[in-house]
Amino acid sequence: MINIPINLNNINCRIQQALATTDRCIKDIILVAASKGQPSEAIRIAYALGQKHFGENYLQEALKKQQELSDLSDICWHFIGPLQSNKARKIAENFDWVHTIDKAKIAKKLNISRQDNQPPLNVCIQVNISEEESKSGLSVQECSEVSTAVKALPRLNLRGLMTIPQHNATEIEQRKTFKAMSKLLLRVRDSSPQLTTLDTLSMGMSSDLEAALQEGATIIRVGSAIFGPR
Ligand SMILES: *Cc1c(COP(=O)(O)O)cnc(C)c1O
Repeated sequence: MINIPINLNNINCRIQQALATTDRCIKDIILVAASKGQPSEAIRIAYALGQKHFGENYLQEALKKQQELSDLSDICWHFIGPLQSNKARKIAENFDWVHTIDKAKIAKKLNISRQDNQPPLNVCIQVNISEEESKSGLSVQECSEVSTAVKALPRLNLRGLMTIPQHNATEIEQRKTFKAMSKLLLRVRDSSPQLTTLDTLSMGMSSDLEAALQEGATIIRVGSAIFGPR
């Protein structure tokens, strides 16, 4: 049996422990519960325990759950799946964060679609730091350029960078990726006066959240360790 209360409690303990050797505390971290493939009831259970941030990967699935959970007024929805331009409008209208911007063009679409009566959409730029051919995400070189373009869009609030390490990476490789992301965020911040406000590193999942937090993650996205296997 999956026990969401125990799992959430374990994750919060893991976060606290990982931060013990850093100068940050749990209040500085956003835990996004990655709820793809999970029913609304599972989200409701986590929400009742104080979990407010949820991450979804697929628009249709997310819209259905958002409707079922529309009574939870202060829930915060993060889009963490691949972006397609034909979905940009609905994503801009129905999410609070988008983590997976990989080109300026899709950011422009989100910007146009974000409504004036909504606060700016929080966004991160997805970086492919191991530069695998098969993965989406920007190379390091493209990152500053796209950041500058996204920063100029008034309906978006560029917050920082996101990455998903290679699937089969060793612990040492993961940590190297996270370290490189921290450095990259500093470099992007330093590359232009407009970018000094970037404050977010979205990295770390069920199996590698400790390394991510120790290397500077401010958002971790955790699925299976909360909800069980998909
Ligand atoms: C599913 C998913 C996660 C969570 O992964 P777990 O290994 O289940 O914790 C995090 N980030 C993204 C982008 C995901 O798609």
